[in-house]
Amino acid sequence: MRRPLGSAAAVHCKVELPEPHTHLYRVTLTVDRPQALQALALPVWVPGSYLVREFSKNLQNLVARQRARIRELHQIDKNHWEVACDPGTTLELQYEVYALDNSVRTAWLDSQRGFFNGTSLFLQVEGVSDQPHAVELVGGERRLLWKVATGLTPVKVDRRGWGHYLAQDYDALVDCPVEMGAFWSGSFVAGGIRHQMVVAGATASFDGQRLLDDTQRICENAIRLWHGKSRGLAGQPPHENYVFMLNAVEEAYGGLEHRNSTALIAARKDLPRLLGKGVPARQPEGYTTLLGLISHEYFHTWNIKRLRPAEFTNLNYAQENYTRLLWFFEGFTSYYDDLLLRRARLIDDANYLRLLTKTVNQVLQTPGRQVQSVAQASFDAWVKYYRQDENTPNATVSYYTKGACVALCLDLSLRAQGQATLDDLMRGLWRRCAGGPMTEQDLRDELRALTGRAWDREIAAWVHGRRDLPLQDLLERQGVAVLAEPSQPAQALGLRVTEQATGVQVKAVLRGGAAESAGFAAGDEWLAIEVGRGPAAQGWRLMKLDDLALYAGTARSVTALVARDRRTLRLALRLPQGKTTWRLAVRDAKQVAHWLDEPA
Ligand SMILES: [Zn+2]
Repeated sequence: MRRPLGSAAAVHCKVELPEPHTHLYRVTLTVDRPQALQALALPVWVPGSYLVREFSKNLQNLVARQRARIRELHQIDKNHWEVACDPGTTLELQYEVYALDNSVRTAWLDSQRGFFNGTSLFLQVEGVSDQPHAVELVGGERRLLWKVATGLTPVKVDRRGWGHYLAQDYDALVDCPVEMGAFWSGSFVAGGIRHQMVVAGATASFDGQRLLDDTQRICENAIRLWHGKSRGLAGQPPHENYVFMLNAVEEAYGGLEHRNSTALIAARKDLPRLLGKGVPARQPEGYTTLLGLISHEYFHTWNIKRLRPAEFTNLNYAQENYTRLLWFFEGFTSYYDDLLLRRARLIDDANYLRLLTKTVNQVLQTPGRQVQSVAQASFDAWVKYYRQDENTPNATVSYYTKGACVALCLDLSLRAQGQATLDDLMRGLWRRCAGGPMTEQDLRDELRALTGRAWDREIAAWVHGRRDLPLQDLLERQGVAVLAEPSQPAQALGLRVTEQATGVQVKAVLRGGAAESAGFAAGDEWLAIEVGRGPAAQGWRLMKLDDLALYAGTARSVTALVARDRRTLRLALRLPQGKTTWRLAVRDAKQVAHWLDEPA
């Protein structure tokens, strides 16, 4: 008898799409040697996205069988089950998973496209998580129309990708999402590694070759950063192949990193376009943002998928996994995502500084930076960063943006000393931690090894402190002009608002701002202002904040009329003067290029 495919696997996971329009995946798990009391669990979170998402809410009709005999399942809690088994007999578990979340974090299935993360689809079979898991993807009626893309290792698949795959363990199984559909597909080689790009939802104007060429340059620069030009510097790249899965939709932005793939979602209008003869070769502005996203997720191949918090050595899919290091793994990745675009010559110095200006201003405009350190923000990601509300800017700081600024401070400080750069630090950490679990002490040790001195004072202030970073001084020493620009009206007032056809809605009131002093609250509808007093007073319906200057003129204060819970309130608003934000510009082109260019 022929051994079944993937027979070395402890668990066989069959995925079928009997009726895609019902958004239900049919999953059949076969456990070769179940325990007498076999425990099963579905993850509550997907690595890379630090929020308990309760995937089990989408699991239904779970049935356990042995030799066609139904076995009773006992549900222990929201995502754990037990089944009493005959241990010598194969256990079959069948269930459905509802999939209609068009994000990179869960699963999707309709008549156009399928996508899933293993964390949404596959029960973890207790006791065999470290053993190989086989996957069988059955296209059914879709097998001739749709193709498959995934980072899973193919064992026997047809030319469209349907068939049998293997994952070395449960971690690998759920770290290889699967894309199915009639997608656009292309490939390139970077650093000797084959990279595939698939794009779902693209329109006829999509310039696939442009996206491939630009992504290739990003990948080459990332590989060079981690492993040097000679490859002898810090070993071989850790991946043998890579898949970018990009879902183009009307409006969305996001990505999730995996060991040899990434799932991305972006706006269709931000894809590069085929340009006709005589059409100026200009791509949409959002295309740079998309390339930044690609660069970011690819950098994670090293920085968090392998070099990772020591607390992530063994992931627990049933609960929050805490770390104080997201400022390093997300923040440093954010620093490098745009920097690699510059190194790949996809943007110029001025453009790079424009992007950096945005990051710096985001931090400086967040009062929560004085409440939380980036280490605390990392730890609290599960309840704060991923559960944002109107109080978020006042209570928390983003470990992405401030973490990127910490990386910038370290890079510029190292360069100012003339001994090393952040690239050396990243490569040093990769070697020191053998591309695996890392602690903050490893970072301190590597900094000392690189420079011959302790960096405890800087780490304490920048990572565990709440004072502003010494960005201005460091940037000016690197040939960057730090200019002051007038603030936008919302920022000057200490407000975050949305402006719609119906008027101005207050989303957040920033700590210490003029709007807070006046008594604004999140949720207020800002209806109008009154300028002046007595018979000469003028009232104006306010539709957008830009009109404030038009109506108020040189007045130092106005009365704001707001609606809150159907009542109207009159608030005395002092109009702040002279508020500014940063704008970074090239002052000394040679010095700036010395920083932004890759060292020869
Ligand atoms: Zn990230």
